[in-house]
Amino acid sequence: SSHPTTNLSLLLERVGSGKESLSFMRRRMRRLAAQWAAAARRLDERLRGQYREQKRILVHVGFLTEESGDVFSPKVLKGGPLGEMVQWADILTTLHVLGHNLKISLSVKELQGSLGVPPGRGSCPLTGPLPFDLIYTDYHGLQQMKQHMGLSFRQCHIRVIDTFGTEPAYNNEEYSTLHGYRTNWGYWNLNCKQYMTMFPHTPDNSFMGFVTEELNQTERFKIKRDKVNNMAVVYGKEASMWKGEEKLLTILHRYMDIHGTVYYEAQRPPEVPAFVRNHGLLPQQELQQLLRKAKLFLGFGFPYEGPAPLEAIANGCVFLQPKFSPPHSSLNHEFFRGKPTSREVSSQHPYTEQYIGKPHVITVDFNNSQEFETAVQDILKEKVEPFIPYEYTCEGMLERVNAYIQHQVRSALRLFLSPEASSCVKTCRDSGLICEPAYFPFINNMEAFNGLNAQCESLDAEKNHVFPAVHVDRRECFQQKEPLLFSCAGISAKHQRLCPCRDYLHGQVALCRDCL
Ligand code: UDP
Repeated sequence: SSHPTTNLSLLLERVGSGKESLSFMRRRMRRLAAQWAAAARRLDERLRGQYREQKRILVHVGFLTEESGDVFSPKVLKGGPLGEMVQWADILTTLHVLGHNLKISLSVKELQGSLGVPPGRGSCPLTGPLPFDLIYTDYHGLQQMKQHMGLSFRQCHIRVIDTFGTEPAYNNEEYSTLHGYRTNWGYWNLNCKQYMTMFPHTPDNSFMGFVTEELNQTERFKIKRDKVNNMAVVYGKEASMWKGEEKLLTILHRYMDIHGTVYYEAQRPPEVPAFVRNHGLLPQQELQQLLRKAKLFLGFGFPYEGPAPLEAIANGCVFLQPKFSPPHSSLNHEFFRGKPTSREVSSQHPYTEQYIGKPHVITVDFNNSQEFETAVQDILKEKVEPFIPYEYTCEGMLERVNAYIQHQVRSALRLFLSPEASSCVKTCRDSGLICEPAYFPFINNMEAFNGLNAQCESLDAEKNHVFPAVHVDRRECFQQKEPLLFSCAGISAKHQRLCPCRDYLHGQVALCRDCL
């Protein structure tokens, strides 16, 4: 079973360096190490006694591979998007901290090596057992896996990190083709829960998320003491994000000092108004310090749905952002055009608008400068505490990802009590299902007996290849003590067995229906 690992040195070594994107991730991992360790200990305390299987996990970060062009790495120090790197750093840390057996791949070569595909034989589909229980990748990686090794195999092991999400209508080949939902991202016919998003956009997908730096008591105290009521930071690493906003900036400047973190090159200062104090792009840690002092974090509508507003709110800022009406979507906005979602984005950051709201988040119509000005005045009067939604803490993310890993595949699990003198092979087959031994560890507990109304008069753990089971005469319940003895085949005349069954694809019995 898996045990939490609070030491990150092995992970840091595996991530390596040599690229600015990797160095960024390593710095983040190091900075948050103590926070992860504390969270892992708390979660472990809470999950004590729960069986957690150690999985062999491959993480293939497609967008950072040279083969996909890696457009992100060169921009790390130049104001390019960092949200993806924040998220991948946190995913890697989560999987490592949860104690799984982790392999990281950052090139097609490493991917081929990991999956055991001989070089030069890239187009052969895999045969033989897959060396991984789970593969986390992104759309680039998915494409590479298909191109280089044929994806026809066991897609149910794959999880796709997909910032904005993929809706069922776009994911299904036949349906998308018939009804005009085809996009360049493809129609992969996955179970939509295999797409994992940055924010909880729709329950059709799984919410992966990332974490926000937490504050200890001392930091909280310091923030309260040092907050500068009339200090604002503008959201936007690139000057283009500030374009056309001079009027609102001028209004804001009547009330507050305005700071920015816009990237610029020495010879060419960015085009932001002269009254703005621009610090240039800051290392994450220094941005945190700036946010700790500031009262207001102001977004002008782009970038959409990044991590920064959560960081600002965590440091006690109010996030002021524009409402979009009509909402932005793939129908009316270039940025979302062709993305496999029809979601209507109601503001720059709908998650903070809908799940956090006042007093931390104020969403108003920026076309109405009076409304904007009133919002600024209100913010100056309000006292606001630092806040992080639990799901964006380390513990929240560990808990969520652990639950996905341990239980998500179990959606196909159906539990049965066999008749006496019957194996689980037969019991499952009699219901049109198949016995799945991988599920035994999850049903080897009292809850399972109760769920089947076994009415145990006692519960013991013993080594016996028909356990877990109930003795037919005495209503004694028995758990399995030796995991190697879990058996679908075992039969005992004196016991009714607990049987974990699942459905399967006809002609492909190794796979459950939902796993594709
Ligand atoms: N960030 C930073 N320095 C800065 C501005 C931002 O390190 O001067 C970091 C910030 O801490 C956040 C990340 O950049 O975690 C992503 O920021 P954003 O919300 O702008 O999302 P993006 O568009 O980059 O994905």
